[in-house]
Order: sequence, then C-alpha cells, then structure tokens
Amino acid sequence: TDPSVIRNFCIVAHIDHGKSTLADRMLQNTNVVASRDMQNQFLDSMDIERERGITIKSQAVRMPWQVDGQDYILNMIDTPGHVDFAYEVSRSLAACEGAILLVDAAQGIEAQTLANLYMAMEHDLEIIPVLNKIDLPAADPERYALEISNLIGVDPDDVLKVSGKTGEGVEALLDRVVSVVPAPSGTVDAPARAMIFDSIYDTYRGVITYVRMVDGKLSPREGIRMMATGAEYELQETGVYSPDAIPGKGLGVGEVGYLITGVKDVSESKVGDTVTTKNHPAEEAIGGYSEPQPMVFSGLYPIDGSDYPALREALEKLQLNDAALSYEPETSVALGFGFRVGFLGLLHLEIVRERLEREYNLDLISTAPNVIYNVTTEDGTVVRVTNPSEFPEGKIMEVEEPMAMATIIVPSEFIGAVMELSQSKRGQLDGMDYLSEERVEIRYWIPLAEIVFDYFDLLKSRTKGYASLNWQRDGSQVADLVKVDILLQGDTVDAFSAITHRDHAYSYGVKMTSKLKELIPRQQFEVPIQAAIGSRIIARENIRAIRKDVLSKCYGGDISRKRKLLEKQKEGKKRMKMVGTVEVPQEAFIAALSTD
Ligand code: GDP
Ligand code: MG
Repeated sequence: TDPSVIRNFCIVAHIDHGKSTLADRMLQNTNVVASRDMQNQFLDSMDIERERGITIKSQAVRMPWQVDGQDYILNMIDTPGHVDFAYEVSRSLAACEGAILLVDAAQGIEAQTLANLYMAMEHDLEIIPVLNKIDLPAADPERYALEISNLIGVDPDDVLKVSGKTGEGVEALLDRVVSVVPAPSGTVDAPARAMIFDSIYDTYRGVITYVRMVDGKLSPREGIRMMATGAEYELQETGVYSPDAIPGKGLGVGEVGYLITGVKDVSESKVGDTVTTKNHPAEEAIGGYSEPQPMVFSGLYPIDGSDYPALREALEKLQLNDAALSYEPETSVALGFGFRVGFLGLLHLEIVRERLEREYNLDLISTAPNVIYNVTTEDGTVVRVTNPSEFPEGKIMEVEEPMAMATIIVPSEFIGAVMELSQSKRGQLDGMDYLSEERVEIRYWIPLAEIVFDYFDLLKSRTKGYASLNWQRDGSQVADLVKVDILLQGDTVDAFSAITHRDHAYSYGVKMTSKLKELIPRQQFEVPIQAAIGSRIIARENIRAIRKDVLSKCYGGDISRKRKLLEKQKEGKKRMKMVGTVEVPQEAFIAALSTD
C-alpha cells in the first residue's frame, strides 16, 4: 500500500468517556462491521473487558474511508485507559501519527485526559480534540470546549462535537482524521523495522503479535529477529484485522497488522521491541522499549491446599498472555504453599485474581499488597523487600520507599478536602493549576504505598465522587518505616506482618490483634496475641483458656451421634493450621485477611 493514503490514529480518553463506543460507531460508519453484527464494545474481546466495561489489551483495526473520491486506509488503535496499563498506552501511541483526544461533554477534562494528552504530546502526535456524548441532556459542549481550548490552545470552534451513541458527528470526525493526521513516513527500501505494540496469546495460533511497520517490509516465510531478545523465528503469517484477521502477502511502510511465528509465550514477543529480518537486519531498534515493572506484590494462596499445582499451572498459562505478570513460589506458616505475585497496580491484581478464579476455577486468598522497599542494614547491605518477611532483622539504617506524582482534578470547593486527605497520606503539595474558574488540577508527591491502596476510594467519598486521579511513579524517599509483626503465643504469623509508617504501626497492631481475638477459637490454654516492632510489643489481646469437650454436649447415649461429632471434629482438624502450639482454623486467617 502507498503510505500516503494511510492514517494511523488512536483514541485516548479518561475512563468511561466513550472510547470503545466511539470505536464501535466508526466500525459501523466505515462498513467494517455490519449493523446487524454489532455488539457493544466490539473490540473488547475478553469477557472480563465487556463485563467491567474497560479495555485491557490494545486492539487495532483497519477501516476504509473515502474523502473527495480518494480512498484512504484508517488504522484505529483502541488503547487501554487505566493507569495500570499506561505502558501499553504509550506503545500504542508510538504506533500512531495522530490521536483523538476524547472528552465527555458532561464531565470535562479529567485526570487521565491530561495524562493521555501529555503522553500523546511526548510522541509528537497530531491531536484532534473531540467532545463526546453531546446527546446527553447534561452535556455542556460550549463550556468544556472552552476548557479544552485553554488547555491546548485551539479555537473552541475547532473542537469537534460527536455522540458515540447516536453516531452524530462521527463521519465529520473521520474526515478530520484524514485531513489533519500526517501520513506515515518511513523508508520503503530500508531494512525492515516494525514496532510491537501488543501481543496476545491465542489457543489455536499461539502468540499473535501486533506491529506497526516503520521501515521496509516483512513477508511470510521470512526469517525474523526480535531486536531486544535476539530471538529468531520464521514468519508463518502476516495480515491485518478488519475486523477479523485477513492474511496477506506482507506488511509495508506505515501499515499496522499482525505477525504469527508459532511461539507460545508472549514474553518472547515483548511489547515495545523491534522486529527486523534475519538476512538484512536493521542496525538500530526503534526507541522507547522498556520492560514493564511490577509495582505491587501480593501473596496468592489456594484456599484448598491441594489446588497448589492447579494454581501454578494457571499462573503459567496466564503469563503466556500477560508479560507484565511475574511470580515465584513462597510458603507461609498460616496459608501454606502459594506464590508471591508482582502486579502493575491494584486493578491488575484484581483482574488477575478474578481470571484465576473464574477461568481456572480456583478459590484464592491474597495477602495485603505491598510495594518494593529498599532496606539498608547496619553493615550497609541494601535489601530489596517485596514481602514483609524479607524485611531484615536487627538494626536498620534506613528504609527507602517508592514515590508517585498524583494528579487530582476536582471542583474548587473540594480543594480543602483533597489537601487534608493527601497530607494525612504523607503527601507533599507539588502545585495547583486552574482548568477553569471552578475546576482545578492539584498535584501531590506521595508515597506509592499510600496511593495504591485506599487513597482513591477515600478521595472519591470526600469529594462526592467528583475527583479524578492519575499517578505515575516518581522517585523515592527515605521514611520512618517499620515492620509490624503479629504474634500468637510468641510465634510470628507471617501472613499478617506489614510494613507501615511508624505513626500508623500502633493502629495496625490494635486492629489486627482485636480482629484475631474475635476469629480464633479458645484453646485449652491462654493465648496471648501481640503486635510487635522487633522485640517491642505495641499491642496485646488475650484469648482465654477453655476446656473444649464436644462430647459433653451429647446427653444420653446416642452412639452414632457421638461418632458423627468425633468425625466432624477430625474433619475440622485437617483445616487447622498450627502456629507454634496454637491451633488456628484456616478460616480465621482468611477472614482476618479479607475483611476490613
Ligand atoms: P471507555 O471507557 O472510554 O471505552 O468508554 P465506553 O465506550 O465503555 O463508554 C462508557 C459509558 O458511556 C458506557 O455506558 C457507554 O454506553 C456510555 N457512552 C459512550 N458514548 C456515549 C455517548 O455518546 N452518549 C451517551 N449518552 N452515552 C455514551
Ligand atoms: Mg473501553
């Protein structure tokens, strides 16, 4: 294909501002999907994406479009909107020359609108500002066109107004894409270079790699090389999606399509890597490649210990399709055999856990998530801690925690509430900018550990749901962090150890000891439950002793009933975990970890 008729663009927006719905309308308007075959969020192929209404993986689809009798090829890349998947958004943007910046006409600019806009600007994309949902009675396009015009310096009249729901304005938007998005530039006779912006695992075909061709050409049967890993494969098939896969004779400059090599593991086809040919390899890879970094770690354990092999197998399979997922085995006194799993964020954790439970039929318990700390001991050794149990014993010189820059957008009446919350979460004000008279952008430098857990929930409840939040990793700081252990009869229960700021250690200790007092049944002896920092006890409860004699409950001589009770007691014993000399039903651990 002649690159001059190609337009590669993506749609970026705050979550729920209507990207996927607009993409649906474009597929219909260009006759790529017939109206009768249309289902909502056509491109969100995973069940979990449809149910939650969010896009997890990127998708690309080719659409024909005619302007003034000239045929064009539009490649639309739908991107994931959530901050956990920001790296994938960034790679999708790198595959485009233009971006539709979509803003809900009843909401205005939100935190991820800004984050996505800045990312698109970093990639030098031509930006097409668009207000969506103009069919809504609450829509106020004039007001928000002004907000956008203040932000990016366009004339408010140049902000297109569309409705992904009714289709109004969508054809004009496609025309605009053709007229303002630059055609791809690349060298036709240079060695081939294609950037991987996504790779998915398909049960039948193995890994399907989505690429944007930059230079040269890739053809089926050709030997290819992944430049970051050096791995070489034979290309079995190339093609484009429109919307189903259409195999072709190869991909040339500016084209967006897929490659199939028969590999079985997405980590061999890394997002951001450059594909070249074996015989005429390019010298330089396309820039911007980096490995996804896990930010949050949590222990995942099967509730039924005999499911451990099934969990391992499920994680292996899931990893085939999720290169950002990392795990290693760990054991816990309280929970038995499980895995320490690294995630991009809490949404990623939730999705992985949900997929494991749903697609692999596992019942799981996850331990309280934590971030990565660097702990320096007295002799100067630095230990990377992803699990409280790795926290070094003895004297600690310093603990370094990861930080994030949070961007919050709220109506100005909530500035006080946002500041109060952020300060209580150890945040430092970085700056504040007004988007309009009544809406403001506030930036806080804040510990990642504080922001990934309940910050957003608290923020929403304290701003009546009006706040939006985005954050990105930003440096680290030394802080007064300690490990709090929970002890039963003097023995540490590993699953409950936590790393917290010293100011919050006491309240954590009190919360956990009183929770466990409720949950652990009385034993034949008194059991102290303590919270401790090192050897210093900071909170304490007692479970009083009881003589537990089940049989005394059976008056008279019903033997079979007695036997049944004995059986039951034995059955119950199997699910007991021993912590030192204390017998604890596993349910107690699970309840203590899951309720809050
Ligand atoms: P995404 O998260 O940006 O992909 O947003 P979706 O496309 O999933 O849309 C979020 C919600 O807004 C869904 O409930 C859509 O039905 C609704 N929606 C999207 N576009 C429009 C529109 O133009 N008008 C109205 N009234 N609702 C819309
Ligand atoms: Mg979506």
